[in-house]
Amino acid sequence: MSESAIHGGCLCGTVTFEIDPPFQRMVHCHCSRCRKGTGTGHATNLFAAPGQIRWRSGEDAISRYELPSAKRFGKWFCARCGSPLPRVTRDGQALVIPAGSLDDIPPMAPTDRIFWASRAPWSCADGLPTHGEYPG
Ligand SMILES: [Zn+2]
Ligand SMILES: [Zn+2]
Repeated sequence: MSESAIHGGCLCGTVTFEIDPPFQRMVHCHCSRCRKGTGTGHATNLFAAPGQIRWRSGEDAISRYELPSAKRFGKWFCARCGSPLPRVTRDGQALVIPAGSLDDIPPMAPTDRIFWASRAPWSCADGLPTHGEYPG
């Protein structure tokens, strides 16, 4: 367990992990696969090497789905609560980490938006009223 490791886990707490920096990049992906896979307007993913992650608990609770028509796209998630989890791409080349699965703030800010041409017209609209929590 390294001191600078970034910690994360799923919503129900079954799966926990830690990842050693550095991260290569942090992207907002607006593709339709990410929309389906997250249920949101875009995914925010960090990229690292597969050897940088250590599963601390619940590794046997991870469900893995590899999209048959895709070269690398897939989704790993907690079988109990459905939260997206870090995954190693099918070619074994990259570790893709959903930023929302992290408990710690990663040592980098978003670097790019990708698949901007595929974005949903309702995603990332500016100028909306902002509320600290639910609107009063
Ligand atoms: Zn869970
Ligand atoms: Zn995507």
